[in-house]
Amino acid sequence: TGAYLSAMEAGRALNAYVLETPEIALARAAESDARIAKGEAGALEGLPLGVKDLFCTEGVRTTACSNILGEFTPPYESFVTRKMRDAGAVMLGKLNNDEFAMGSSNETSRFGPSVNPWRRAGSGVKLTSGGSSGGSSAAVAGALCLGATATDTGGSIRQPAAFTGTVGIKPTYGRCSRWGIVAYASSLDQAGPIARDVRDAAILLGAMAGHDPRDSTSSDREVPDFEAAVGRSVKGLRIGLPKEYRVDGMPSEIEALWEQGAAWLRAAGAEVVEVSLPHTKYALPAYYIVAPAEASSNLARYDGVRYGARVPGRDIVELYENTRAAGFGPEVRRRIMIGAYVLSAGYYDAYYVRAQKVRTLIKRDFETAFANGVDAILTPATPSAAFGLGEKADASPVEMYLNDVFTVTVNMAGLPGLSVPAGKSAEGLPLALQLIGRPFDEETLFSAASVIE
Ligand code: GLN
Repeated sequence: TGAYLSAMEAGRALNAYVLETPEIALARAAESDARIAKGEAGALEGLPLGVKDLFCTEGVRTTACSNILGEFTPPYESFVTRKMRDAGAVMLGKLNNDEFAMGSSNETSRFGPSVNPWRRAGSGVKLTSGGSSGGSSAAVAGALCLGATATDTGGSIRQPAAFTGTVGIKPTYGRCSRWGIVAYASSLDQAGPIARDVRDAAILLGAMAGHDPRDSTSSDREVPDFEAAVGRSVKGLRIGLPKEYRVDGMPSEIEALWEQGAAWLRAAGAEVVEVSLPHTKYALPAYYIVAPAEASSNLARYDGVRYGARVPGRDIVELYENTRAAGFGPEVRRRIMIGAYVLSAGYYDAYYVRAQKVRTLIKRDFETAFANGVDAILTPATPSAAFGLGEKADASPVEMYLNDVFTVTVNMAGLPGLSVPAGKSAEGLPLALQLIGRPFDEETLFSAASVIE
C-alpha cells in the first residue's frame, strides 16, 4: 500500500485519481496485516485497489465526476465495494470517469480527462485512456493500483481496458448488484473489474459478484470459481466470428489482429466458425436512444434538494432550473434532451418503442448463434487504438459515439464481454480483442482470453 501511495503521488500527471484516500488505505492495510497474522486472510486481503467515482463509498466523497453532486459524501457503501472490502481489499482512492459515465474518452469529467500512460512511438501527444472508466484504466496501466472497479453501460470497461493494454470484463447483466452505484442507464449498467491480466480480472470479479436482495435485477445464481477457468483448455470450444463486424473502413491492423486471435484459438484446439448477427448495424443507433431515455429518467433526481450542489432561486422551480443548468455538463445535457425527446408522447412509439424492438432482435441474433453451438464470439474490442485527447471531442458527438460500435451490442443483449490485449498498432499502442459469451458463462471467456493474452 505504501508503494502504491508513492506511485500515485509520482503519477499525478495521469489525472487518474480524483480523490486519494491515504489515511483510509493505511488503516485498512494495517487491519489486513492483523488478519493475515491471525491466518484469516480474505480473497482480496491487503490488495491496494482503486474505485471508480461512480461507486458510493461510505464517508468518502462520491461525485460521478459531475458538478451537480458537489461534495456529496454518501452515508452508505455500494454492495460491490462493500463485498470487496469484506474480502480484505484496501481502497487507495476514487478514480476519474466521464460525467455520469457518459463518454468514451473521460473528457466529460468535471476534473478534466485522465491520461493514457501509453504514447505513440516518437510522439508526445497525450492520448485518451478511454471512457468512461478512464481513471480505472490509466491507474491500472500506470501501476497506480493493482486493479480497479469500473462500470460498463455501452463499453466503459472494455474500451478503456483496450486502450491501455489491460484486461476488463463486463459480466452478464445481473451478475453484480447495481445497489449504491450512481445510475446511468439501469437496464444496461453493470460493474466489473479492470486488471493487469486475465487471472487478476477473474479474482476481482469473483469478489464483486453475487446476489443482493436490494437490487431486484441481481441474480441469485452461484458465483463460480472464475480463477479456476483461467488457463483451462479451449479444446473443442466453438468460437464464432460475426461477419457483420467487418465494418467498412476497419483499419487493416485491426483486421490482422482479429485473424491472429482466431489463429491462436485454433492452435489451442478451438474450432473457429463464421456466424451472422444480422441486426448489428442497428445496435449503435438503438443504444443511443435507450441509454439517453433511461438517463433522462435517472438524472431527474438531481434537483438541488436531495444531493450535492444547490444553486438558489426565487422559488423551488427556479432552484431546480438553476441547479441543473449549472450542475450538468454539455454532454449530460445533450443526453437528457435526447432522452426526454424520445420518451415524449408524440415520439415514444417512433423512437423509444422501436429501439426496444431492435434491442430484442439484437438479443435474438446472439441467442441464435449460441443455439447453433457457438460457445463464444470473438470480435475486435474497438475500431482503433487510443486516440489523442481533443481529437474526437472537438469533432462531433457522433464521431465519439462511433467508437462504441463493437461494445454496445453486448449491453443491449445483457451478455458478458471481456476485452483482452492482443497486440500492438503500427505506432506501438495496445490493441485488444473482445470475447462475448452466453449469459452467466464468464468462465469460457476467461479460458479463451488466457489463450490470447
Ligand atoms: N460511451 C458510451 C456512452 O457514452 C458508453 C459509456 C458507458 O459504458 N458508461 O454511453
